[in-house]
Amino acid sequence: MINRKSRDEIKRMKHAGHIVALVHKAMKENIKAGMSTKDLDDIAMEVIHANKAIPTFLGYNGFPASICTSINENVVHGIPSKNVILKEGDIISVDVGATYGGMVGDSAWTYPVGKIAPEIENLLKFTEESLFAGISKMRAGNVLDDISSAVEAVANREHLGIVRQYGGHGVGHVMHEDPFLYNYSVGDKTLIKSGMVIAIEPMLNLGCDEVIQLPDEWTVQTADKKPSAHFEHTVLATDGEPELMTIIREEFL
Ligand code: MG
Ligand code: MG
Repeated sequence: MINRKSRDEIKRMKHAGHIVALVHKAMKENIKAGMSTKDLDDIAMEVIHANKAIPTFLGYNGFPASICTSINENVVHGIPSKNVILKEGDIISVDVGATYGGMVGDSAWTYPVGKIAPEIENLLKFTEESLFAGISKMRAGNVLDDISSAVEAVANREHLGIVRQYGGHGVGHVMHEDPFLYNYSVGDKTLIKSGMVIAIEPMLNLGCDEVIQLPDEWTVQTADKKPSAHFEHTVLATDGEPELMTIIREEFL
C-alpha cells in the first residue's frame, strides 16, 4: 500500500531531507584526490550527528557505514574504506540517508574528482537530466509509468545503459516503502496522489545495462566495468508542482 504523508510527516521529512542536503554540500566541498571514502563517511557522520539526526544506512541490513560510496564502475552500495583513495579523473556516487523525527530523507549524487573525461562528464549531466525529467512527472493525476518513461527517454536518447535491478521507491517512516519505481517503462498505471513521497533515482551506465554484485555482498558494479552515475532526490507529489524534499531550507538552518 502506498501511504500519503500528513502535513506533520511532510514537515519532518523536509527536515530530514535538509540534513541529507547538508551532507551533500559537505561532500561537494570536500571531495578531492587523495582522500579516502572512509574520510567522506566520517564527514557525513559528523554532519548527521551535529544536526541531531540518525544515519539511516548505518546498520540497514547490516550495512557498516552512514553513506554508500561507489567509484567509477561501481553503481551503488559501495562500502566506505580507508583503503579506497580518490584519484583525479574518478567519479564517486555518494548515497546519503538521514532519519529525523522518525522520518527519512534519501538522496544520491555523483561527483567528479578533479577533471574528468568529456564522455564521463556527459554521463553525469544526462543522468542528472533524467532525474529531473522523472521529477517533472511526479504530479497528482499522473501514473508511475510517466516518471519511468521520462527517465528512460533521456537514457535512450543518449544511448546510456539503464540499471534494471534497482530503482526508486516510496520513502517515509522507513527508507523503502511502496511503491517500487522502475527507471524504464513497464506500464505501471499506479496513480500518483498528493502526499505521496518517492525517492526517484536513475542509475545510468556508459555501457551496457547489466550489473554484477561483488563478493563483499554489497557493491554493485557494471558487468562491462564502464562508469555508472546515480542521481536521486526524495520528491513529494502535491496538487501543483512536485516538491523536492532533499534540499537545504533556510527555516532549518
Ligand atoms: Mg539513496
Ligand atoms: Mg533510494
